[in-house]
Order: sequence, then C-alpha cells, then structure tokens
Amino acid sequence: MTCPKCEGNRQVWEKWYDFDTETWITGYRTCTNCRGSGIVYLYSSVSYALAFFFGLSSSFSLIFAVDYGATALRLDWNPWVKDVKEVRYWFNPMYFVWLFHVNRKKWVEWTTALSLIATLIVVPMIALPLTSYQLISTPMLGQNIFAGWLIGTVLTIPFAIAWYQNYEDLSKLL
Ligand SMILES: [Zn+2]
Repeated sequence: MTCPKCEGNRQVWEKWYDFDTETWITGYRTCTNCRGSGIVYLYSSVSYALAFFFGLSSSFSLIFAVDYGATALRLDWNPWVKDVKEVRYWFNPMYFVWLFHVNRKKWVEWTTALSLIATLIVVPMIALPLTSYQLISTPMLGQNIFAGWLIGTVLTIPFAIAWYQNYEDLSKLL
C-alpha cells in the first residue's frame, strides 16, 4: 500500500527549523509517515484492529473446522468408541472422540476454548517474528499494530463465545 502522505515517492515538502544555521528551511525531507520506504501497510490502529480481528477469528474458525474434521474421521476409524459407556479421564487420547459422539454440545465447548487458546497464542507467535523488523523500524506503526492486536484479541473472545452459543444453528447451515 502506497504511503498517502508522500504518495510513494518517499519525500515530502516541509518547513523545518535548522538548529545549526538557526533558520527556517523549506524543502524536501524524508517522509516521516513511511520513513522513506514509500510504503504504508495500514493506516490506523482501527484498521489494524479490524485486520487482527478478521485474521484471528478466521484462524479460530479454521482451527475449529480442522479439529471437527479430524475428530469425525477418528470416530469413523474407531467405531468401537460409540459403544463405550464412559470415559473417565479427559487426558485419554480418545476422550474427545468419545465426547464428540455422546455429547456434542460439551465437545463444542471444549473445542471452542482450545481453538481460542491456540489462536491467541500460536498465531501471534508465528506472526510476530515475521513482522518484527517492521515493528521495530517503524515505531509509529508499531504502536498502532500493538493497539490493533490488543483490540483484535479482545474482540475475538466474544466472537468465540457467540460461535459456541450459536453453534447448533450454524451447524444446520453447513
Ligand atoms: Zn511516505
């Protein structure tokens, strides 16, 4: 995305005070908006918040969907699980497969919570090293990204709760 302040040519026409000569100088300076790169990724913390919210909520849905598919497959491969009356220990590797069969609502509850934790911890852990250079080199943007991440994260939690509460209606659409 091209910087809107310098329109991508990296320089802006500005007036500034020169302390060496003690005079006001008018001329071209390196753009402070994009710091001379000519590129601005997104403009404000609001746009970052929306981008983060969109990214996090879609990765939440994706993790949930993959988990759903994997559990349904494992149930298909292990039909004996359907005959089990009770699985006492939740750390039993088949517990969630069994729960998926006997108590879908409770399975959705667990999977929502685990997908949310995975989204909020794993996704930023992958994204952070990829963007750390830009975060450090552009402190103005870095602040906006941080605020955006915080808002996006906070918004993803009610999204996951709404997902859980409306799961039965949603699953009829799929
Ligand atoms: Zn610029």
